[in-house]
Amino acid sequence: MLRMDGFDFVRASDPAEAVALWHAQPDSAYIAGGTDLLPNLKHRIVQARTLVGVGDALAKGWARVGEAYEIGAGTTLAALAAMGELPLLATAAGAVAGPQLRNMGTIGGNVLLDTRCLFYNQTEFWRKSLGYCLKAEGTWCHVVGGPKTCVATQSSDTVPALMALGARIRLLGPGGARELDLNDLFKFNGMDHLKLSAGELLTHVIVPVPAAEARGSYQKLRTRGAIDFPQLGVAIWGRLQGVGPTAQIDALRVVIGAVSPQPKALAGLDPFVGGPLSDEVVSAIAEQAFKSTRPQGSVHGDSAWRRHMARVFVRRGLLALREGAQPAPVDGAPAAA
Ligand SMILES: Cc1cc2nc3c(=O)[nH]c(=O)nc-3n(C[C@H](O)[C@H](O)[C@H](O)COP(=O)(O)OP(=O)(O)OC[C@H]3O[C@@H](n4cnc5c(N)ncnc54)[C@H](O)[C@@H]3O)c2cc1C
Ligand code: SF4
Repeated sequence: MLRMDGFDFVRASDPAEAVALWHAQPDSAYIAGGTDLLPNLKHRIVQARTLVGVGDALAKGWARVGEAYEIGAGTTLAALAAMGELPLLATAAGAVAGPQLRNMGTIGGNVLLDTRCLFYNQTEFWRKSLGYCLKAEGTWCHVVGGPKTCVATQSSDTVPALMALGARIRLLGPGGARELDLNDLFKFNGMDHLKLSAGELLTHVIVPVPAAEARGSYQKLRTRGAIDFPQLGVAIWGRLQGVGPTAQIDALRVVIGAVSPQPKALAGLDPFVGGPLSDEVVSAIAEQAFKSTRPQGSVHGDSAWRRHMARVFVRRGLLALREGAQPAPVDGAPAAA
């Protein structure tokens, strides 16, 4: 049995109080659903003396405000999985873990969950036997085989979908509120992958209302059809006119997650905008995804296979998109392109 070290728990009743409580104590951590934080505390990879409970402080649910949906950071993944207004996000939220974890886990915690690694998300005994690692108490990365870089993986299912939808996040710190494009939140550093100031609280995720002709898909690679974190997550969003190989691309975004500390939008799609999503274009974009995806060995699964599956998922997603399909089902089965 894994025993947790003791901690103090204080409950905030609104976002400003949460920020004040966080800053009032050394070694504080926010806790929302606790589904990421509590296992990390048990594994002693997070040390926090005070947990600031934000369950009562954060808004739950969503509202349309002008041309965007404002989603409270306290909204559970189970609630989001039923969000008919944003089917792409609903598919991704429904792909997280299993029902119990989706009932507890929040969108705020899913966006900000810690990076993961085979050599790090382990008991202290296990990590000690290996001499620890760069991210905690050690000096060496067992994945890279060197002393400088940590490539622990950002493993959220909703982040690629939110990035594809053009989402922003609203944060509250001691100096006030600010908004940040989700594309600008992440860094390629598994030890410190978030561009946040200490103690900033995520209060809302803001998603532009998609145009009527918008389409999307999220596909997830994982060993088992439930519970497992992604080994690869591919979100595709586009505005197309028409269906089939002559469908014209008005806008297109492809985001690839769960391969490194930094989920990334696929670059170089602009030349395809304004033209048809023909078979040749589908192949060219899928090839581009293969070339630019470098899965790190920090999660389960052969890296070359995960890279190949980026090409497969992009191809499948684009073909579904041009047929006007709604988000494709989650699929963990290795399949040919
Ligand atoms: C067995 C298992 C399987 C899982 N599978 C998946 C999976 O397939 N896909 C996936 O994406 N996730 C998975 N998870 C991770 C986790 O369940 C989800 O990411 C969940 O959404 C985390 O939300 P939470 O509210 O529980 O976060 P918490 O654990 O409460 O917090 C996570 C982190 O975010 C910080 N935080 C939380 N809310 C805020 C906020 N509003 N402002 C600032 N900081 C905040 C916390 O301090 C902590 O560092 C899995 C977890 C387990 C245990
Ligand atoms: S990628 Fe390397 S440094 Fe980072 S957690 Fe894994 S083993 Fe540790």
